[in-house]
Amino acid sequence: MTNSTALLPNLILAVAKTIETNADDLTALDQAIGDGDHVTNLQRGIQALAAQSEALSQLDWQAALQKIGMAVMSSVGGASGSLYGTLFMAMGKNLQNRPLTIAVFAEVFMKAVEAVKQRGKAERGEKTMLDVLIPVAELLLQNADQPEVLEQVKQTAIAGADATQNMLATKGRASFLGERSRGYIDAGAKSSQLMICAIVDVLTA
Ligand code: ADP
Ligand code: MG
Ligand code: MG
Repeated sequence: MTNSTALLPNLILAVAKTIETNADDLTALDQAIGDGDHVTNLQRGIQALAAQSEALSQLDWQAALQKIGMAVMSSVGGASGSLYGTLFMAMGKNLQNRPLTIAVFAEVFMKAVEAVKQRGKAERGEKTMLDVLIPVAELLLQNADQPEVLEQVKQTAIAGADATQNMLATKGRASFLGERSRGYIDAGAKSSQLMICAIVDVLTA
């Protein structure tokens, strides 16, 4: 993995593109068991980041990640804004100016996912973005020394999102539906998967 924030404009572009390409599917998922605004929420954050992507690419990773977290937190409405915002801010905070190797990233990402769990008072298996973030964090921690880990990350993210389909939602708006929340992939799990896959594609291109 490169350790330069010069990648950030490309990463932000790739994330914007995958959300745009999959907007209808994602919206349908949030309409089915939520309130239908997930794509709008994400796109507000993505636009805020795109507007400062050149500035972000001048910062070191710690500062860039913290700035991304704050921008996401303040621009994105909904549950996902504070959760994704927390994820990036916690990554920046835990990096502590170390070079961003895969091993360091794995440690920092796991700590950030723990912060998201605390913020949302949620665990794995509750049909949320955590059903993607937690298995990806575990895979990275266990396989940080293997060069092909990034390809496995994509498979793990896809499996994590797919697994939410039959889960009962016990957090977020979908939980209001009880048993009727089953049968649909969680929108936040799907958006996490799409963004992770887009990021891996940039890093392995
Ligand atoms: P809102 O639900 O406020 O409309 P979004 O539609 O943008 O916000 O995001 C919904 C997504 O947020 C859900 O699909 C789920 O993945 C995630 N989510 C909601 N509540 C929680 C929580 N407590 N912990 C983790 N993720 C959550
Ligand atoms: Mg919503
Ligand atoms: Mg909403």
